[in-house]
Amino acid sequence: MHTVGHFINGQHVNDPNARTQPVFDPALGVATRQVALASTATVQSAIAAAEAAFPAWRETPPSKRARIMFRFKQLLEERAEQLCALITAEHGKVLSDALGELQRGIENVEFACYAPELLKGEHSKNVGPAIDSWSEFQPLGVVAGITPFNFPAMVPLWMWPLAVVCGNTFVLKPSEKTPSSTLFLVELAKEAGLPDGVLNIVNGDKEAVDALIDSPVVQAISFVGSTPIAESIYTRGCATGKRVQALGGAKNHAVVMPDADLDNAVSALMGAAYGSCGERCMAIPVVVAVGDAVGDALAERLAAALKQMKVGPGTEPGNDMGPLVTPAHFEKVKGYVDAGVAEGATLVVDGRQTRIASAPEGFFLGGCLFDHVKPGMTIYRDEIFGPVLSIVRVGSLDEAMALIDAHEYGNGTCLFTRDGEAARYFTDRIKVGMVGVNVPLPVPVSFHSFGGWKRSLFGDLSAYGPDGVRFYTRRKTITQRWPSSGVREKAVFTFPSNQ
Ligand code: NAD
Repeated sequence: MHTVGHFINGQHVNDPNARTQPVFDPALGVATRQVALASTATVQSAIAAAEAAFPAWRETPPSKRARIMFRFKQLLEERAEQLCALITAEHGKVLSDALGELQRGIENVEFACYAPELLKGEHSKNVGPAIDSWSEFQPLGVVAGITPFNFPAMVPLWMWPLAVVCGNTFVLKPSEKTPSSTLFLVELAKEAGLPDGVLNIVNGDKEAVDALIDSPVVQAISFVGSTPIAESIYTRGCATGKRVQALGGAKNHAVVMPDADLDNAVSALMGAAYGSCGERCMAIPVVVAVGDAVGDALAERLAAALKQMKVGPGTEPGNDMGPLVTPAHFEKVKGYVDAGVAEGATLVVDGRQTRIASAPEGFFLGGCLFDHVKPGMTIYRDEIFGPVLSIVRVGSLDEAMALIDAHEYGNGTCLFTRDGEAARYFTDRIKVGMVGVNVPLPVPVSFHSFGGWKRSLFGDLSAYGPDGVRFYTRRKTITQRWPSSGVREKAVFTFPSNQ
């Protein structure tokens, strides 16, 4: 069985004594590869490679760094089919969705191509008599990224292209569930001309992550994954003096108002709830119906739409939704559906009996729809990360907003309405970081930044875009004066503000 290894200093690295873990093809329901789990020593060798590459890379002009990103973008487009096949083979999402993920990742590479513009800094002439002052944005050094399984191309592309064009070197620890497409990205970066050691990959689990956190060489960590791990990485990373941004889990609510265009809302909700089998941090697993008439209509129309949704292997054209990622995750999600029934929610559509003739062993769970879900239930409280949509009924927009604000997560939310006043009220006051109006998945474009509120993001700066540039650079402010010959001043013992 093929072992997916590491990529350190421009070379594939495999330690025959390393621990390994199976990597599944979730549509086939079998392990088709295994992934090496890096030891502390392997991680340290990747950090050492990144540290050695830093001095020369730091001195490389930003325009030259950006040119590598232009070539990299071109390679991503040329090899998209190969890359997406790897995503689908390990994640299970349908190929068209893998392509969508890649496109969003490419947009981050395009943003990184602006490096010379992004790093221009700020300049003020004559802040005092013959004194000039400027701020420049210097790289941090070695930066690490730790990424989740659900976007094996896009989330790494949120991180390292921007970090490296800012002059840092990088060690990436992808998800051990979906390692191959991420490794392929790094091979393409080398082909695009990225010097050896600037970007390194170590596959692994907690041992590898701990080695990154404990290293005094690593200056900053970007993490994306579940909230408990995000919180622990943030706490431990900050305790070792690192800069940390740790993006966590979500439970995004969509609110449907009585005046909404219901057909549009139902189409949008179908994609947002069941696309990628619900394994998206911006998925909509909760729809809040304002009024029973909206609740009844949504339950009926969503159930009808679910009958039309095609479930099957991501490689088969025409399918809308693939399998869940691993057998363990399948059991977890199915367990939540069982719990919802036990807690008294109405299971309008039960996907638990779904069987796919062409893929009988795959980890397929059909789309599930619950109605009359209450805030105390586990299916309302927890992030399920599967194809399970819950309808909650409330009497007013304020009641819907109070529910959303009370939830521990604050990643994304959306309002379906035709009322501009309601939309303005909602977007202004809701305690959530990314808000849509008639847009179910308000994922910010690459020249904005991505970040939730509350327990969906630990740290001060969001991912990518302008916040990403600030995260991967350190401000240095220089105040400079060149006294003219003959002008000599006496010692000054006060602030020079009144001179
Ligand atoms: P996860 O937290 O299990 O794993 C994320 C990363 O952390 C992986 O690289 C994994 O190897 C590592 N990890 C796992 N356990 C660890 C431990 N005990 N110590 C140190 N490292 C550990 O998440 P996942 O299942 O891969 O991804 C799904 C989660 O990611 C969901 O909660 C989802 O909402 C979240 N997510 C959030 C965003 C966002 O932008 N906020 C984006 C995508 C996914």
